[in-house]
Amino acid sequence: MSEKDPIMPILMSDGEDSPSKEGFVLSNRSIKAMKDIHPDLRKVVELAITLTTHDFVITQGRRTIQQQREYVNEGKSQTMHSRHLVGCAVDYVDYPEFSYDLKTMGVIAQAFKEAAKQLNIPIHWGGDWKHFVDSSHIELDSDKYPD
Ligand SMILES: [Zn+2]
Repeated sequence: MSEKDPIMPILMSDGEDSPSKEGFVLSNRSIKAMKDIHPDLRKVVELAITLTTHDFVITQGRRTIQQQREYVNEGKSQTMHSRHLVGCAVDYVDYPEFSYDLKTMGVIAQAFKEAAKQLNIPIHWGGDWKHFVDSSHIELDSDKYPD
């Protein structure tokens, strides 16, 4: 991906296309899940929901140490150094399917990446990871946003 690409203008529908072209809004569930997350990550999510072509729900934001320990015990996470503990990560799922289908999750991830680029807030998508693919996970870059 080139950093020199111009920012794509958001083409607004004049109403003759389907309403979904006007973008989605964050559900109350998402807003509740984003409580206590880093304000820059919140900005990325808030822009991503307007850019995405597939609706999503934020399922989790900040975790407590106890919650993280349960996730590790259940095999849902591999680390006690999760970015969720410091409010620098969110998990999402495609809505209304809740399918976690990798292709759909990737479509939504593109909206997160585009939002991050427009805001100049570096993020990482867990679906790009090689060692432990975590396609529902978005986190702030740990160099720019240390724990
Ligand atoms: Zn996560």
